[in-house]
Amino acid sequence: MRSLQLLGVYMASSMSVAAEPPLPATEPHSYANPQQIRVREVALDLAVDFERRRLSGTVDLAIEHVDPKARELLLDTRALDIEQVQTRAEKGDWKAAEFKLAAPDRVLGSRLGIAVPGDAQSVRVRYSTVPDASGLQWLTPEQTAGKRQPFLFTQSQAIHARSWIPLQDTPLVRAPYRARIKTPKGLRAVMSAEMHDEPDADGRWRFEMPQPIPSYLIALAVGDLAFKSTGKRTGVYAEPSMLDRAAHEFAETEKTIELAEKTYGPYRWGRYDLLVLPPSFPYGGMENPRLTFVTPSVITGDRKLVSLIAHELAHSWSGNLVTNATWSDFWLNEGFTTYLTYRLTEAQYGQAFGDMERVLGYHDLLDSMERADVADRSLIRETPAADPDEVFSSIPYERGELFLVWLEQRFGREAFDAFLRGWFDDHAFKSATTAQFLAYLQDKLLARQPGKVSAVQLDAWLKVPGLPDSAVLPTSSALTEVEQQRERWLSGKLGTAQLPAKNWAVQQWQLFLDSMPERVTLDQLRQLDARFKLTGTSNQILGSSWLRLRLAAGDKSAWPAAETYLLGAGRMRLITPLYRALAKTPEGLAFAKQVYAKAAPGYHPIAREAVERILRGEQAGV
Ligand SMILES: [Zn+2]
Repeated sequence: MRSLQLLGVYMASSMSVAAEPPLPATEPHSYANPQQIRVREVALDLAVDFERRRLSGTVDLAIEHVDPKARELLLDTRALDIEQVQTRAEKGDWKAAEFKLAAPDRVLGSRLGIAVPGDAQSVRVRYSTVPDASGLQWLTPEQTAGKRQPFLFTQSQAIHARSWIPLQDTPLVRAPYRARIKTPKGLRAVMSAEMHDEPDADGRWRFEMPQPIPSYLIALAVGDLAFKSTGKRTGVYAEPSMLDRAAHEFAETEKTIELAEKTYGPYRWGRYDLLVLPPSFPYGGMENPRLTFVTPSVITGDRKLVSLIAHELAHSWSGNLVTNATWSDFWLNEGFTTYLTYRLTEAQYGQAFGDMERVLGYHDLLDSMERADVADRSLIRETPAADPDEVFSSIPYERGELFLVWLEQRFGREAFDAFLRGWFDDHAFKSATTAQFLAYLQDKLLARQPGKVSAVQLDAWLKVPGLPDSAVLPTSSALTEVEQQRERWLSGKLGTAQLPAKNWAVQQWQLFLDSMPERVTLDQLRQLDARFKLTGTSNQILGSSWLRLRLAAGDKSAWPAAETYLLGAGRMRLITPLYRALAKTPEGLAFAKQVYAKAAPGYHPIAREAVERILRGEQAGV
């Protein structure tokens, strides 16, 4: 709502020199009161207990009294056991502080109010997490690649940091952080921060993130992890049994960084390492600074799915360096990043490859638009979503990308590249709103090349549910060819043996399978399987596409393979289409529920939520 009002005011005075509108004082998905008392630094001291599935210890928050009269610090928490709260004046001793934990809200968690004297400089909270904390996933040894040691990882975006750290859990607030993490012997802790290679004498791993970051980028993983360098700034952490394959797959990361720096300015985070997670990681990747978390499902041996790495790396500019100030501005993170990803992929692997990825992204967009509520089809909503996870879809990614492509075409690539570089430089280590972006756009492009873009057109991109007619839609000759061949195959003019699919890239296969018309027959699917051995493919992405197609065609003989797949995967993008296809018939839904009951313990809490929404009959989302 706030963005829309600012947008209106801004457009009304669009001829004046643009001063960027201020950031909002508070944010609808957080109880924090940074306009009164703001957290300036976070220091964690936690022990990891796999047996009891909990983190316990302290967080020290350095605070600033923005409003000198304010006497209560408000923090976000979700299902934390708060044992003790203390405050400390400069050079003073820790003193017990009064605190009040409010009744929990289903989405936001519990507000923690802490009484702070006017001279308090720091607040210490002693706490522990609960075994089913929404931001933590605890894996048994059986759920890992190596099967010998347990594994823990965090996923803080969007509002899950509060389930493992009491803090101001909003992207409005940025702070540097330090941490000491005590792990059981033989296990290594890694975080989105500078790391030391060895634990200290007490068995604690030490970390420091000197740059101010939003809370959703604080990340931790603990497991049987080994490291392999892949370049001067890059390397891979993975379980030992995965390490060599992962390092081979992601060997070209340093080159991608260099390409990004050429256009968007220096990489400002020091190292860029990747952490390969177990299959239950719910996303493709998570752009935790200095240490992207990545799904093992993109390790195929042929480096064909590395655009995922380009995406996570691009977040080092769009998202991590310049951050959406509220979750209603999510497209500023993901639309920009998707645009940068396509540019990087194109620069590194050629126009034809980039075009294929763009077309597949556009198909994802159409699919999401069809499923989403009308309010979620535009880039900014009239009112904030109740739960950011619930409205997660391709729309902020792909529609945001199309918006930026459209702007690029209006102003020319050279001018638009310079504009983006300026946006990143001028807002580095800051959070930004859509209204601020529009003010900057007005100042740096629209005012300098007047008459090319109107306020009505910008509104159509940002606020109107349908895609603007002027959108520049991607095309790919490699994919058009596949569509034509599929058409001839479906109508019987081309035999299955004549399909030239042996040489298809994974993207061509994805298009062939994902947008298959409903008239495909079970017999045709069987012929495909007999020739190309799609059931049981080791490529997890194609495995999901193929099984979804069989399930959608009503092929009950696919149920056992679907069950095996759903028990072994955890990435939401791969599992939700299968649950959705099964849920279309009462019998399929009953089967899906049975499978889910078995699979759920291996899924991340965020993925469980998403699947449960499908099984309840809600179709929106991932
Ligand atoms: Zn992203």
